[in-house]
Amino acid sequence: MHPNFEKSFYITTPIYYVNDVPHIGHAYTTIAADILNRHKRLEGYQVFFLTGTDEHGQKVEKAAQERGIDPKTHCDEMVVRFESLWKRLNISNNDFIRTTESRHKKVVQKILQDLYDRGEIYQANYDGWYCIPCERFWTEKDLLEGNCPDCLRSVTEISEKNYFFRMSQYQSWLIEYIEKNDRFILPPSRRNEILGFLRSPLEDLCISRPKKRLKWGIEIPFDTEYVTYVWFDALINYVTGIGYGSEENPFSQFWPQVTHLIGKDILTTHTVYWPTMLKAIGLTPPKMVFAHGWWTIEGKKMSKSLQNVVEPNRLIDAYGVDAVRYFLMREVSFGMDGDFSHTAMVHRINSDLANDLGNLFSRALSMVVKYFDGLIPPPSDLQEVDRGLQEVSEKVLLQVSKQMDDLAFNRALGSIWEIVGAGNKYIDETAPWALAKAEKDRPRLGTVLYQTLESLRIIALLLAAFMPSTCEKMWAQLGMGENLWEQKLNVNGKWGGLKPGRKVAKPMPLFPRLDPTKISRGA
Ligand SMILES: [Zn+2]
Repeated sequence: MHPNFEKSFYITTPIYYVNDVPHIGHAYTTIAADILNRHKRLEGYQVFFLTGTDEHGQKVEKAAQERGIDPKTHCDEMVVRFESLWKRLNISNNDFIRTTESRHKKVVQKILQDLYDRGEIYQANYDGWYCIPCERFWTEKDLLEGNCPDCLRSVTEISEKNYFFRMSQYQSWLIEYIEKNDRFILPPSRRNEILGFLRSPLEDLCISRPKKRLKWGIEIPFDTEYVTYVWFDALINYVTGIGYGSEENPFSQFWPQVTHLIGKDILTTHTVYWPTMLKAIGLTPPKMVFAHGWWTIEGKKMSKSLQNVVEPNRLIDAYGVDAVRYFLMREVSFGMDGDFSHTAMVHRINSDLANDLGNLFSRALSMVVKYFDGLIPPPSDLQEVDRGLQEVSEKVLLQVSKQMDDLAFNRALGSIWEIVGAGNKYIDETAPWALAKAEKDRPRLGTVLYQTLESLRIIALLLAAFMPSTCEKMWAQLGMGENLWEQKLNVNGKWGGLKPGRKVAKPMPLFPRLDPTKISRGA
């Protein structure tokens, strides 16, 4: 076991289908993963954060064909949209894996060969129905009125030889594993859904496609007439991305300390196919697979035309990166469905960010500049009201740590805003502007401003994972010269870390207020 195993944390997002136009759902999963990554690092963990793209399959082959270019060139062009969006959204992934990379293909083939040699994969005739858009086979009884049960489109009858993974033999093991590990599938409603699904017999998984139908895939090493089924290929990326099967790798440090985030639409593949595949190759399943909900747009289901209005790049243009990150995590409980509306977005920015947090910050800094030439005054003779603010911060620090372990992002933000609320109330109650009128009240004025700034320093530390660039600004303006990302919450989160005598900056507004009458409708 690696010496740092206890403090190791591996975060993965699904690898996104390279043909897709990145939308709010992709951004949501990836932002959540980024927040966990940054927070765990501040908690002193060594974290590996992987995202990437899924680049094989029929849809990619077809799209490339239509453009008259080869599929790899097509992928190389499409992948940039994801890579550049993650850059704009300040995503701090350690690596980005593409399933067309040789480091991935080699491992997939090695695993296939190994499973075949051990009799975990066999050849059989496949008679069934095929849905082209879903790239999935269905049996007669799966069909819904003769159509694909997933997308309700028509299916094609197929009879051909294929290779199968003996998934069925792991059914009782998987049920037991899920029952024993109540945090393996979260939220609990998704866990129940999968346990319900596993009440019916689990079938073997067809893992090949004949090249005469599909060429764009990883060649099956023991039969060159076939390529690998995209899901079997894609699900292996989570181990290839951290170097499974190679000599020097972070694999032994991070596996199976994995927290994997997905949308609820890919629950079965990630909690049935994936763990049984891992079991077959002798690996423990991930610690947690968390399925989040879906976003509707202004109360409607996401559609091509509505998607334009909330295209992540346009949201960033209109509201700024940190406000978008904040809104998505604050508005809905992670795991539930949510609704995106521009009205709600503007309301959150004006009320939570500009009014509550932004005002507290600029009021406190302005008074230090005005009354103390910008030099942080020392605290003295603490009164009950001063200790009250400190106690709220200390309580919230512990709460947030627990909430982040539960991926309860919106509750963590709610807790952080308890400090914001307490800070605003504290200023109102202690009325520093009145204290500034008499020289004898100067030590008291210094104490009040120190306490307020110190609560803001703690806020910046706790909020940093959610709003990285805003908190870097807050940190610097508070006269904290130390690198924010090298702080440790259990040490630097303790009350009293703000240094008297240091100079604060003249406050710059963190969030400009938005005019609610000029709400972007994407027009
Ligand atoms: Zn379908």
